[in-house]
Amino acid sequence: MVLVCGAGGFIGGHLVNALFAAGAAAVRAADIKPFDEWQQKNPAADNLVLDLRSTESCRRAVHGTEGAFQLAADMGGMGFIQNNKALCMLNVLSDTHMLLAAREAGVRRFFYSSSACVYNIEKQENPDVAALREEDAYPALPEDGYGWEKLFGERMCRHFHEDFGLESRVARFHNVYGPYGTWAGGREKAPAAISRKVLDAKLFGRHEIEIWGDGTQTRSFMYIDDCIKGILDIFESDIVEPINLGSSELVTINQLVDIAEEIAGVQLKRIYNPNAPRGVNGRNSDNTLIRKRLGWEPSTPLRAGMAKTMAWIEKEMRAGSVSR
Ligand code: NAD
Repeated sequence: MVLVCGAGGFIGGHLVNALFAAGAAAVRAADIKPFDEWQQKNPAADNLVLDLRSTESCRRAVHGTEGAFQLAADMGGMGFIQNNKALCMLNVLSDTHMLLAAREAGVRRFFYSSSACVYNIEKQENPDVAALREEDAYPALPEDGYGWEKLFGERMCRHFHEDFGLESRVARFHNVYGPYGTWAGGREKAPAAISRKVLDAKLFGRHEIEIWGDGTQTRSFMYIDDCIKGILDIFESDIVEPINLGSSELVTINQLVDIAEEIAGVQLKRIYNPNAPRGVNGRNSDNTLIRKRLGWEPSTPLRAGMAKTMAWIEKEMRAGSVSR
């Protein structure tokens, strides 16, 4: 039996399905959200609604499992993490209690979903950024709130391994997008938010988009299928140090809007908001280590991934549903 925490969310939901597809005999899925709000529901899993901030819930979740994927986190896009730093840091409760419960239960291996937000922000001041290598997390100066908590979580994994023998694998995800990701409500990230705005123009004739900052900030975006393959391969590997899991296809936010407009066949008036949360000026994933260790890197072209994501969001919008 393997456990996926945060299974009601975007990446966790895909991971549950992928584990079954990869031959897992039994998967337990845990999330704090009521079951009817899970982004994907797999009836074959042992689905549990649990608040993993408490030790008791973590014990219940790991009971009888031999591998655990800790993806549960109170999080969202830049708009959420810049305005909810305390909530993001409170993820320390689920991270530490999951580690304690996993150790107690003798779990064979623990996967921790870290983030590119752990990287030193001084190395991300230029849109023409040098891609971030794993060692660029130190000296530590991560994204305030969310990034500090993730860096702390990484180190907890390291010390639980060194001191208590709990094996862990840590991947630093860089901006993941795809179907079943949050696309409205304030927690959505740039690809989904831009997709929704562009589709608003296509479906409802609202031809305007607000862009946070001046649109010249750069990012890379990883399609969900690459993320899931990476999680499974890193979990099975012998890579004990934190490793980047991200695309290295760097684009400006303006270029991301160009791609979305081109897919939808519309053009929008761009209104730039210099006061909105915009995050670092540039961020890209250096994939030297993952290529060396796994002989692979996330490589779904952004255009192809965005086309699939927008097709899904369009279906959701037409059905009148709003992602939670
Ligand atoms: P998500 O918000 O869709 O999923 C996270 C899930 O965790 C949610 O369903 C939420 O209800 C659940 N959760 C929150 N607090 C909980 C608690 N106390 N007990 C149980 N469940 C709880 O986010 P996601 O995009 O699927 O991200 C999964 C993981 O990957 C997170 O740890 C996130 O920090 C990390 N990550 C994601 C990205 C990205 O671009 N999506 C980038 C870097 C890191």
